Amino acid sequence: MTRSPGHIAVVGAGVFGASAAVELRRRGWAVTLVDPGPLPHAAASSTDVSKVIRMDYGSDLFYHRLGEAALEGWDRWNRDWPRELYHENGFLILSAKPMNPGDFAYESYQALIEGGHSPVRLTDIPATRTERWDLTGYADGYFNPRAGWAESGAVVEQLLGQGEALGVEVHAGAMRHLLFQGSRATGIMTTNDVRIDADIVLVAAGSWTPSLFPWMSDLIWSTGQPVIHFQVEDPAAYSGDHFPPWAADIANSGWYGFPALPDGRVKVANHGPGAPAHPDARGVVGPDHDERARAFLRAALPGLADKPIVYRRICMYCDSFDGDLLISGAPDREGLFVATGGSGHGFKFAPVMGDLIADVVEGAENRWASRFAWRTRTEVRTEEARFNGE
Ligand SMILES: Cc1cc2nc3c(=O)[nH]c(=O)nc-3n(C[C@H](O)[C@H](O)[C@H](O)COP(=O)(O)OP(=O)(O)OC[C@H]3O[C@@H](n4cnc5c(N)ncnc54)[C@H](O)[C@@H]3O)c2cc1C
Repeated sequence: MTRSPGHIAVVGAGVFGASAAVELRRRGWAVTLVDPGPLPHAAASSTDVSKVIRMDYGSDLFYHRLGEAALEGWDRWNRDWPRELYHENGFLILSAKPMNPGDFAYESYQALIEGGHSPVRLTDIPATRTERWDLTGYADGYFNPRAGWAESGAVVEQLLGQGEALGVEVHAGAMRHLLFQGSRATGIMTTNDVRIDADIVLVAAGSWTPSLFPWMSDLIWSTGQPVIHFQVEDPAAYSGDHFPPWAADIANSGWYGFPALPDGRVKVANHGPGAPAHPDARGVVGPDHDERARAFLRAALPGLADKPIVYRRICMYCDSFDGDLLISGAPDREGLFVATGGSGHGFKFAPVMGDLIADVVEGAENRWASRFAWRTRTEVRTEEARFNGE
């Protein structure tokens, strides 16, 4: 069934909600974007200094192609927006063992070659890009020049500005519950008892979605992931050609990081299992994690290992059981859609996300939609870059 524009309440103004609001408004929907704010919300996962933008997805060619399509979108946004928010510094992927079929690094490298891209094998990478590294623990790897990082909080701000210019109405409030007529969702009630009626409700509340909808608990859950920023005195030595975004044997260790920001902060994080947590009670990064990070850095990036840590944050993943996004109408609840399940890798798809979500809401064809449709719980897995161990 295809659906004509009406009034939609979009709950959550992170990258999923903001990109959907912009595209739906462009298509003629009256859009009320509901978020407690102030926007971009400081606690949102999207509100951050940086996210990796890559199409390196191991053997998963679907995400490889989706990432490739998103990269074209990042180029377009760089052209169209007042300031470039995507920085194509490339992506350095190091592998502890020689790359072999079945490995994340090998399969990603192969997909790039077969897709006509030009990754550079570790032995051929210019020394400038690896000079900060102690490569003793890395036998192999590659540099992919077609990748980089985005200023994710600024991207959401830009989208929200576009939405506002197009006439998206922002409502500062938090959804408490859905309103129903029979099994049909007809709007939401906020925690301040404001009633918002709508033809369609789209819930894109990131890691808050599982607690809003406990009936989805076997499909999605939230996990807290520690992020730390080290301070360096010489940002130029830790950025550009000297220090692209990197992943250090990521599928077996989780460690990855970013170039220095202009103020000298270097973000290091771990794409690992995390710890189950509610986003409003996510806790803090403990000293044990600082020590784990420093131990990794002592071996891999010794110049960073003893730098002061100037920022710590638990950032939330909304994990889906299979690591795939969940962008779908909800069964048995007509008029309700969800767009979530970023599972720690959703931000990069921002430039294709608005179209994708709007197509799903309107029932229009979209080449990416079927993978993200509602599904019943099967085996738990993650995208291939993610470390699943302890
Ligand atoms: C540490 C970390 C590193 C990551 N790194 C990367 C990366 O390198 N590359 C990448 O592609 N992805 C990455 N991700 C994943 C990416 O950040 C997420 O997939 C994406 O930002 C999720 O966006 P969202 O809109 O679903 O959620 P959010 O950005 O969290 O937004 C949810 C919004 O919903 C609002 N909300 C909550 N409850 C309510 C309510 N009741 N009513 C109304 N509004 C509500 C919140 O205020 C918030 O604004 C990372 C995530 C983390 C945590």
